[in-house]
Amino acid sequence: MADCYTCFRPSPSDLPVRLYNTLTRRVESFVPADPGRVTLYVCGPTVYNYIHIGNARTFLVFDLLARTLKRRYPNVVYARNITDIDDKINAAARELGAPIGAITAQFDAAFSADMTGLGLLAPDVVPYATAHIAQIIAMIERLIASGHAYAAEGHVLFSVGSFPDYGKLSRRDPEDMLAGARIDVAPYKRDAGDFVLWKPSDETLPGWNSPWGRGRPGWHIECSAMAEAHLGDTIDIHGGGMDLQFPHHENEVAQSQCAHGGKIFARHWMHSGMLNLGGSKMSKSLGNTFHVHDLLRLVPAEALRYALLSGHYRQPLDWSESLIEQSVRTLDRLYGTLRDLGDATVDSNPAIPQAIEDALDDDLDTPKALAEIAGIAAAARKANSPEERAALKAALLGAGRALGLLQMDQAEWFARGADDSDDARIQSLVDERNAAKAARDFPRADAIRKQLADEGVLLEDTAQGVRWIRKR
Ligand code: AMP
Ligand code: ZN
Repeated sequence: MADCYTCFRPSPSDLPVRLYNTLTRRVESFVPADPGRVTLYVCGPTVYNYIHIGNARTFLVFDLLARTLKRRYPNVVYARNITDIDDKINAAARELGAPIGAITAQFDAAFSADMTGLGLLAPDVVPYATAHIAQIIAMIERLIASGHAYAAEGHVLFSVGSFPDYGKLSRRDPEDMLAGARIDVAPYKRDAGDFVLWKPSDETLPGWNSPWGRGRPGWHIECSAMAEAHLGDTIDIHGGGMDLQFPHHENEVAQSQCAHGGKIFARHWMHSGMLNLGGSKMSKSLGNTFHVHDLLRLVPAEALRYALLSGHYRQPLDWSESLIEQSVRTLDRLYGTLRDLGDATVDSNPAIPQAIEDALDDDLDTPKALAEIAGIAAAARKANSPEERAALKAALLGAGRALGLLQMDQAEWFARGADDSDDARIQSLVDERNAAKAARDFPRADAIRKQLADEGVLLEDTAQGVRWIRKR
């Protein structure tokens, strides 16, 4: 039977969403502890630089999850923190010769602008680590009092041996975890695997008075304390990128469970797959990144969303110029269909078709949802009667709404003026720059990079050669 694109759910909240749970390694029906208050915590960015499109993938996945849950439950509290105290921030401030507060304020604002630019909803709670120092200190005190942490030389460490479930979330072998920790064991650690909850700050570093002297928190305890402060001892869903499973999330579980007398910390854990560039994980430390801040000036936000949603969230996704190009082309076709349906009048807030809800309920199957959108558009192109055209146009707009796509005016979409004929010229300049670099003619190589940048072409050097992205 053909798909029904104009069928809608009578009562969506009766149907549980199915989500993969890292704890059990299975797709499970998600049943909140209290359907009257569903809680979601996602680890946010450390604000010392612009976020890259890999970070954005993770935040987009959880934005989609929050929207999906909010259609089913009347009260979803979604918290995504800002890490505004961290040694990487201190290092960036030193390098740039700027005050720490100026760095965090600048990149916090840039992060918000990027999220809005990509069409993400603001979370319900945005806790800042530096606004939770009292809660962090109180949690550390409880961990010391219950024998799960100890103070040594101005530091406080979590005693991993005191928590038998350590390693359960990431399913790491205790020996493997220790092998990593043994490389450079600080003298104040009782056990190589013990991790820092609090560390001393000299006068050049940000610090707060504490029972262990002036110091600052470790990264992991910040999330445990913020989740507790805003969502309670046990949260429904905890999310983040796959790369945070160990040690960050493992450490959050250990701290929170031990501080709460063994109560479960997160009932459901979700991890998004990594976005790769040139075969390696896109990451600030490798330097193979495209910043959202730059991409938003070159590529329509909806094309970035389409590209990020084209793969299932648990799988790795390769970022490339051709992925962007295909996404732009697909949206061109979909907006073209909407333009052709221009005469059909529809409601300003059309309902989301059941086929789309079903795909999202199935562990956020965005490739399936995008295929459904293509199916709706194909049916709309064949429809003749005014009623059918209006119904399918509404279905297309409703489907787009669920994914944050097709929200622009068609005229606005088509006004952006992309020009594919320029690709060969750009490639020849990239080739010339490669040749100049090989001949160690760096002034020429830099001049070409600058010329292309002025034209809106971004170059990225990766292990597999140069990638470029140009204005679309
Ligand atoms: P960070 O600021 O590095 O802690 O990263 C913020 C969020 O982005 C975390 O949830 C990370 O797991 C996620 N993340 C970092 N790199 C990538 C990547 N290449 N692909 C997808 N998510 C990422
Ligand atoms: Zn965290």
